[in-house]
Amino acid sequence: MNIFTKYAKWLHTQWPAGRPEKLPAVNEDGSTNVRGLYVAGDLRGIPLLKYAADSGARVVESIVADSTFQSRRKDGDPEIDIAIIGGGVAGMAAALQARKHGLNFRVFESNEPFATVVNFPRNKPIFTYPEGMIPAGELTVSADIKEALVEELKGQSADIEVVGADVSHVRKIEGGFAIESSKGEIARARRVVCALGRSGNYRRLNVPGEDLGHVYNRLHDPHDFCEQRVTVVGGGDSALETAVAVARCGADTTLCYRGREFSRPRRENVKMLEELTSDSNAPGRIRVLREATVREIRPGEVSVETGGQSSTVPGDVVFSMIGREPALDFFRRSGVHISGEWDTQKTIGLTLFVLFCTALYNWKSGGFLSNLTYQHHLWPVSMKDDFSAVLSNPNSLVSVLVTSAATPSFWYTLAYSLLVTIFGVMRIRRRKTPYVRVQTYTLMFIQVFFLFLFPEIILPWLGKNAMLPQGLLDALFPAVEYGNGREYWRAYGLILAWPLNVYNVFTQQPLGWWLVIAFVQTFVAIPVLVYYWGKGAYCGWICSCGALAETLGDTHRTKMPHGPATNRLNMFGQAVLAVAVILLALRIAGWTMGNNAYALNQWFPGALNHYKWTVDVFLAGIVGYGFYFWFSGRVWCRFMCPLAALMHIYARFSRYAIVSDKKKCISCNVCTTVCHQGIDVMNFANKGRAMTDPECVRCSACVHSCPTQVLSFGQIDRNGATTKIDRLSATSD
Ligand SMILES: Cc1cc2nc3c(=O)[nH]c(=O)nc-3n(C[C@H](O)[C@H](O)[C@H](O)COP(=O)(O)OP(=O)(O)OC[C@H]3O[C@@H](n4cnc5c(N)ncnc54)[C@H](O)[C@@H]3O)c2cc1C
Ligand code: SF4
Ligand code: SF4
Repeated sequence: MNIFTKYAKWLHTQWPAGRPEKLPAVNEDGSTNVRGLYVAGDLRGIPLLKYAADSGARVVESIVADSTFQSRRKDGDPEIDIAIIGGGVAGMAAALQARKHGLNFRVFESNEPFATVVNFPRNKPIFTYPEGMIPAGELTVSADIKEALVEELKGQSADIEVVGADVSHVRKIEGGFAIESSKGEIARARRVVCALGRSGNYRRLNVPGEDLGHVYNRLHDPHDFCEQRVTVVGGGDSALETAVAVARCGADTTLCYRGREFSRPRRENVKMLEELTSDSNAPGRIRVLREATVREIRPGEVSVETGGQSSTVPGDVVFSMIGREPALDFFRRSGVHISGEWDTQKTIGLTLFVLFCTALYNWKSGGFLSNLTYQHHLWPVSMKDDFSAVLSNPNSLVSVLVTSAATPSFWYTLAYSLLVTIFGVMRIRRRKTPYVRVQTYTLMFIQVFFLFLFPEIILPWLGKNAMLPQGLLDALFPAVEYGNGREYWRAYGLILAWPLNVYNVFTQQPLGWWLVIAFVQTFVAIPVLVYYWGKGAYCGWICSCGALAETLGDTHRTKMPHGPATNRLNMFGQAVLAVAVILLALRIAGWTMGNNAYALNQWFPGALNHYKWTVDVFLAGIVGYGFYFWFSGRVWCRFMCPLAALMHIYARFSRYAIVSDKKKCISCNVCTTVCHQGIDVMNFANKGRAMTDPECVRCSACVHSCPTQVLSFGQIDRNGATTKIDRLSATSD
């Protein structure tokens, strides 16, 4: 391993890199890109009964609240208000809610009502997580054993009429949808709720013999297998529950798992497995083969490879329990976007937006479009002429404002501040936690005051009216002939530290006070912040890029790509940081060598200009913002920002971590899915490891979204033991 690979591993590539599962792309209210088509239940990502019931009821509330649904039915509109596809927990909860609102609805079910639950193994224990949660709507889930649960669910929905039909897709028509099966159109409805669950498509092992008659994907009654030699393949809840159930009946049981640790299943299931692997008095014992890959299934035996060695295990019956895939084809046929998948519409949208950002950043950064507005005295340059009548007093607030407003950057930062404020308020309403409230108000204040009002209006006005000491003004904001008479834009450097903002440091002559400020920020204050609270103390609480990502970008966070390749791409920021460090060294050399470095001093402004157009305009502006709505709001922060790259190094020595209560984790992957820094949070949480990936920006989405409240912000010691949990709660009020 060469030194670069070792460094990359130490910094970025050693961390888990699991990907979120592909699911239909669904908004928080259950709606999708197909207007009028909603999704409820397991397809929303959380595989729990209570969440399924809750989302079913809430989706109907979203439909009822939609003004276009409430408006009067037009002639020719479908008779049925809501078609509910899937008569499981979510579908029935939606049906009960629709009935409560007096709506005309139909439930279409391909199997039987509550088929998934009915097919749970006999006497399966039911875990009704989260314990304190009361789902919205009328359907309650409280039983603790399968048979009682089926009775409880059927009892509450006995009078809901269910139409037997295997729906293949839905098709948009005038006023609603046509519901299609293999037999053609079977109904029409104004709105559709898809509550198909994930019981349909079993994952395949893709090995010879998988389709033999003794291979099953589901256990109905363990008593059918008491006398047999059973091999169960898998390492999740279903696999463990199957192995435990058949072993307890007395079957000779082998569990083949390709991983080492059982980190995904519920703790109760792991405990039961452990009892049956260690307790010799238990009714049935389970042989567990870890890191074992199934190669072939033959009558009576299964060929397995463990650590490069082949062996066979007995298998009169084989259960392949390696999970189920959502019915993505149903959604593709219905026109619903799948998370992470691309189509022509998305590609065109991305291309057009990147072109828009190219024009915007060219104009804002003094490029070709900016020159055009200057040359032709177009807006906003012409503002000063337009307002000349009121500018008789050059020191008045209006004069200062109009002068500042004659530059594109004034309008850019005004628009930026408005976006942070408007979407910040929306974020506070959406994510009701003390942490999000305090964090978002802080971001909004820093953006509006320090990154707009102060440099653009307040500071120039104070300066012009001699309300600030002359020495301070001369030291920090040198006099110039244009604008408000001084380089007040340098005040952005009070918040945006080197090397995010290089312009107060890379000057032709050193600006002493700015060098001191930049040094303290980058090499004293930020390291201290990162040591105690992680890189997110700056990226998630102070920086303007973070402010926009956490507000405007809040609903786009699931679009960040995950996986080993993007973890390697995290190293790109190190390259940008290296360029900034080389420029710093050259700049210091130029200053200290004076006339001896004439060539270097001549060359430096050109190099800085290249750096500006490559890093600030192209990478931060065009790529960072151009990709915003397709790859999340943190593309620049994660992959390219040189200050973040420096903080990643600091963060490797930090005490900050996201700590987890492993026993509560149900391995639902929600935390990984919502992480817009691409961190595989689940892989830390379900093993009880503190999450110390330096990419974390403390956004709190994982902590807030976890359905079983596993995660907390905190601090750890060198051995990884938790020393502190943050007081500001990031879980719901
Ligand atoms: C083995 C197992 C054990 C579990 N244990 C627990 C537990 O202990 N605690 C817990 O909280 N959760 C548990 N779960 C998860 C829980 O069962 C689900 O969260 C819940 O059933 C999801 O409800 P749903 O309505 O979204 O989907 P489902 O309950 O799966 O219902 C979907 C329905 O849609 C129907 N359908 C599918 N496709 C079509 C189609 N094209 N046309 C018409 N109908 C269709 C299906 O037949 C099914 O009836 C378990 C799941 C499994 C598989
Ligand atoms: S707080 Fe959680 S979701 Fe946010 S960046 Fe950190 S790990 Fe990712
Ligand atoms: S920690 Fe992550 S995987 Fe575990 S329950 Fe919470 S969201 Fe799901």
